[in-house]
Amino acid sequence: MASSILVLGAGMVGTCTALHLQQLGFEVTLVDRRAPGQETSFGNAGLIQSEAVEPYAFPRDPGFLLNVALGRGAEVHWHARGLWHMAGSLLRYLRHSHPKLHAKATEAYSRLIAHATEEHELLMVAAGAEDLVAREGFRFVFRTPKALEEAAQRAAVLYDRFGVRYQAENTTQLAHAEPALRPSLAGAVHWLDPWAVNNPGALVQRYADLFVARGGRVLTGDAGSLQPSGAAWSVKTTEGHVDAGQAVLALGPWADGAIRQLGYRFPLFIKRGYHQHYSAPTPVRQPLLDAERGYVLAPMQRGLRLTTGAEFAPIDAPPTPVQLAKAEALARELVDLGQPLQEPPWMGARPCTADMLPVMGPAPNHKGLWFNFGHAHQGFTLGPVAGRLLAEMVQGQTTWIDPRPYLPSRFD
Ligand SMILES: Cc1cc2nc3c(=O)[nH]c(=O)nc-3n(C[C@H](O)[C@H](O)[C@H](O)COP(=O)(O)OP(=O)(O)OC[C@H]3O[C@@H](n4cnc5c(N)ncnc54)[C@H](O)[C@@H]3O)c2cc1C
Repeated sequence: MASSILVLGAGMVGTCTALHLQQLGFEVTLVDRRAPGQETSFGNAGLIQSEAVEPYAFPRDPGFLLNVALGRGAEVHWHARGLWHMAGSLLRYLRHSHPKLHAKATEAYSRLIAHATEEHELLMVAAGAEDLVAREGFRFVFRTPKALEEAAQRAAVLYDRFGVRYQAENTTQLAHAEPALRPSLAGAVHWLDPWAVNNPGALVQRYADLFVARGGRVLTGDAGSLQPSGAAWSVKTTEGHVDAGQAVLALGPWADGAIRQLGYRFPLFIKRGYHQHYSAPTPVRQPLLDAERGYVLAPMQRGLRLTTGAEFAPIDAPPTPVQLAKAEALARELVDLGQPLQEPPWMGARPCTADMLPVMGPAPNHKGLWFNFGHAHQGFTLGPVAGRLLAEMVQGQTTWIDPRPYLPSRFD
C-alpha cells in the first residue's frame, strides 16, 4: 500500500505525473472520467513554449482595459457572472502583476520553462511520439512597425536574461518564411526554440500508452468520489473502489471544485478559450500569434487551428464563442482560412492562479494527498517538468528544481 498512488486527472499534467511516479517505482493508477488528454490538453495550440519564461500578467495598459470593458477586440471576453465569481482571485492577480512581483514570479516560472523541451524529448522518444512534433519555432507577427520594434527590444532582453533565442524578421523576411501570409505585415519575432505539436490530445494519449506499456493502470472514475480511507485514499471507478497509500489531484481547471470539497480556498480562476479548425488550402508552415490581435494559428493534423485568448466565465456556463468570430475575421486578413471544419467549436479552460505560479506539492492539511494543477497558459508545455518535480517530492528525494515557490502551503 505504501508505494501505491492514485493520480486523478489524465491531462498532460496528470499523465506525466503518473509516468514519473511509475519511473520512481510507485504502483500508479491513473483515473479520469474520460480517456487521457481529452480536455484542456486536447484543444490548446500545441505549443511547447520554451520562450514563455514570463508568466502571463494581468494587462495594465488603460487603452487595452477600456477596450476590454467595452467588449471591443478579440483578446478578452467576459461574462459579468464570471467576473463576479472570480473577483477576489482577479484582484490578487492584478496585484501580483505589478512589475516587481511579476519579476519575482518570472524568476520561478522561468526555472520550470527552462526544462520543458528536454523533459518532453525524453518522453517523446520513449513513447515513439516524435512524428507529432515540429522543432522549427513559433512566431509573433506584427501589423505595425512600432509594435514590432517594441517586441524585438523585449526579445533582446529575454535573450540576455534567459537565453531565449529569436530572430527579428522584416516584411520581406517574413513573407519569404511564410508565403501563405498576405504581404501586409510589418514583420515578426521568430522564437527559434519552441516546438509545435500537430495533435496535442494524441501526444497525451501516446504518453498514457507508454504508462500502460510499462505496467500502469488507466481507469475511468470520478475524482469527486475521492475519500480518505484509514491511512489510505479511495476512489470510485468503473472497476469498483480503488485504494492507494497516496493520491495526486491533477484536475486542471476542475481542481478548484475538488479542493473546495476538502476545505481549501486557493486564489484560482480560469480563462476559457476556444478553437476551430479551417480547411486553409495553403496553411502557415509554423504556428503564429497575431500579437496585436490576440489569437494563434497553428497547423494541425486536422486543419489550421485557430485558438482564442481569454474568456472570463464560469467553467460550466454555456459557450459564447464571440472571440472566435472576431478572431476568424482578423485571421482572414492574414491568410486564406478556407472553411470551418467543426461544429460546434471546441471550448476549454486554462487553470490559473493569482500569483501566476502552478500549485505543486503536498496538500497542507491532508496526509498522503498531493496537488499538481494551475499551469495556466503553459500546462501543455510544463506537463513533463511538473510530473517529474511532483514525483520527486512524493518520493522524498532532493528535487532537481527548488519546489518552494510552487508549494500549496504558500496560500496559508
Ligand atoms: C485555447 C487554449 C490554448 C492553449 N495553448 C497552449 C499552448 O499552446 N501551450 C501550452 O503549453 N498550453 C496551452 N494552453 C494551456 C494548456 O492547455 C493547459 O494548461 C493544460 O492543458 C492543463 O493540463 P492539465 O492536465 O492540468 O488539465 P486537463 O488537460 O484539463 O486535464 C484535467 C483532467 O481532469 C479530468 N477531470 C476533471 N474532473 C474530473 C472528475 N471529477 N473526475 C475524473 N476526472 C476529472 C478531465 O477529464 C481532464 O482529463 C492552452 C489552453 C487553452 C484553453
